[in-house]
Order: sequence, then C-alpha cells, then structure tokens
Amino acid sequence: MVLEKTGRPLVEREVAKPEPGPGEVLVKVSACGVCRTDLHVVDGELPEPKLPLIPGHEIVGRVEALGEGAEEGTGRLKPGMRVGIPWLGWTCGECDFCRSGRENLCDRARFTGYTIDGGYAEWTVADARFCFPLPERGGLEDVAAAPLLCAGLIGYRTLRKAGDARRMGFYGFGAAAHLAAQVARFEGREVYAFTRPGDREAQAFARRFGAAWVGGSDETPPRPLDAALIFAPVGALVPAALRVLRKGGAVVCGGIHMSDIPGFPYDHLWGERSICSVANLTRRDGEEFLALAPTIPVRTETVALPLEAANEALDRLRSGRLTGAAVLVPDF
Ligand SMILES: [Zn+2]
Ligand SMILES: [Zn+2]
Repeated sequence: MVLEKTGRPLVEREVAKPEPGPGEVLVKVSACGVCRTDLHVVDGELPEPKLPLIPGHEIVGRVEALGEGAEEGTGRLKPGMRVGIPWLGWTCGECDFCRSGRENLCDRARFTGYTIDGGYAEWTVADARFCFPLPERGGLEDVAAAPLLCAGLIGYRTLRKAGDARRMGFYGFGAAAHLAAQVARFEGREVYAFTRPGDREAQAFARRFGAAWVGGSDETPPRPLDAALIFAPVGALVPAALRVLRKGGAVVCGGIHMSDIPGFPYDHLWGERSICSVANLTRRDGEEFLALAPTIPVRTETVALPLEAANEALDRLRSGRLTGAAVLVPDF
C-alpha cells in the first residue's frame, strides 16, 4: 500500500520484491501495526517524507534472506527468525547524540515508513542492527506483538521520562497508553485516564486496563497528579494537564506531532513543573521494553484488518473509531 502524494489515500500497487543490501535483512511481513504517526505522514503533517512511500513501522515478520555482512551487524539474525522492525531505522553512529546514548536525536537518523519504506507490504528490508529478535514462545502472536514495536516502545520511553511519579495521568487512552498503563501498574503506580469528554467506550477501555480513575480531559481528578503523559495530538491538553499536576510534576508529550499549545498563565508552570517531549526511541528502549513486556505480561488489544484495508484503518484511527490498535495482515 503506497503513499504517492500526501493528503491522498494510499494506493494498492504491485512493486518489485525488495532485495537486501549490505547489512540489511529481507523480512516477510506477517503483521504491521497502524500508528498515529502513519496518519501524520499520510496527512502531510510531517516534513519531507520519502515519496512514493510504503508506510508502517510496527512490523513483525520473519527473516527470509540476509544481505552481505548482515550477520556481522549483530551476529544474531538468521533466516527464519521472528523479528520486529521499529520506527528507528538507521542512525549515523558518529554524532554527539549517537555517542552519548541518545541516538533517538541523531540529525541524520532515518525512519521506517517515513524516510525509508516500511511494512504496509508483503516484504520489506531493514538494517539488521535495528531489528529486534522476538521470542518464538510466550504466547504473543504476530498481530498482538506488532503494536509493541512503536506504541509499546514510545509508551515505555514516555513513562520513563516521568521518572518515579506515582500518580500518573494518561491523556488519550489508545494504543500507546494502554501498553504504558500496564507497565505503570506493574511498577505499582496509579493510572488516571483522561479521554475525550463523554467518550464512554474509551473510558471503559481504560478501566479494563486498570485505571484507578477515568474522566474527560476537562475534568479534575480527585487528587493532584505527579505526572501527565499526553498521547493525543492536542496541544490544548498541555495547559489542561499542568492544572492537575502537583508541584514538581512533569507533563510528557509522547507524540511526534501536536496542534499548537495555547497560552496559559505562568502560575500553572510555577512550582517547578516541567513540560518535555519524547522523540523517537533508542535501541536500548526496545531491548528493555521487549524484555519487560513478557514478564508483566503486557496484553495488547488489536483490530486485525487485511493489508488492502490500510485506508480504512487510517480513517478509523483519524476519527477515533478504534478501541486498541489496528494491525494490517498481508495474509489475512
Ligand atoms: Zn547520529
Ligand atoms: Zn509509531
């Protein structure tokens, strides 16, 4: 499924099966999650995507072939292995960011399904060093594993940015929040879920995943919070979240794109409250989260759709008509 021009629906195309270049692996895609970032790419809200582009960066599949030198990258990938391919597709390895454990900030980074082709396809190629081996056992089917590759990883990084906060607000209880909330609960934190006002379905969903309190984003929880994680792309939620934070609390914005943040009185930030964003992920986030997920164990709520239904999946995500994460399956 190919994006030929932003702002237009994807089109189904027959394209040549990709060949793995040096250091790359060819992967037969079995499932690819649909992330809100895909929507931002398709809608033209992120600058300069590769065009034409195959979107998708929550890829689960099996290694079919290795390019020259691919086994040297990590020494761990072999044909037949189940792997996950995330958003971070390549980094330079040389810049200050890369050399200080912050490869997520690399200026030259390339991103799966944005600046390199992704997983809305039957096959894809990826740099072997950026693929995660996925366990064969542990009961996690390919479809269930797909959302871990971005919603899970970004949710995890967002959660980590909130430090040791105990009472955590989650604004926008979708794919990333429902995964991060399970980690939060496992770590003994309290989950306060904020949804669109009156969205009973999302509120029931949040309760199923252990929220101690649910309400609309315009409501005030019974106690001030230590941190607020914002997963909805709505800038107005930033001042709304600041108002329910106690002193020293942090607002962490987990999305790659957000509407403008409206002005607010300094008083809401005063008291050493902070606002920060989360950009991309590091391979270390992936290794930590994918090791932690089966011990919790993290459950994912998914809606599987055939690959050809990519536009329908994107439309449902755009209009909020999805509970959990949409996952595209080539062999539906
Ligand atoms: Zn770099
Ligand atoms: Zn994503």
